[in-house]
Amino acid sequence: MHEFTCGHQECGSQFTSSDKDVLMRQVADHLKEAHNVQTATQTLLGYLETMCVKSVPNR
Ligand SMILES: [Zn+2]
Repeated sequence: MHEFTCGHQECGSQFTSSDKDVLMRQVADHLKEAHNVQTATQTLLGYLETMCVKSVPNR
């Protein structure tokens, strides 16, 4: 599983998915809805993937 934890101030939303592509799509949606980022660029998503996504064991 991959787990995303939003690093935005006081947000801390978490998503998990077994598919990283699905997870990053959820991240893009989250950025749009919660943080008013209309276009999540590949650069931004790549950065967030590095900083905010970690692998977690399946439960
Ligand atoms: Zn957030």
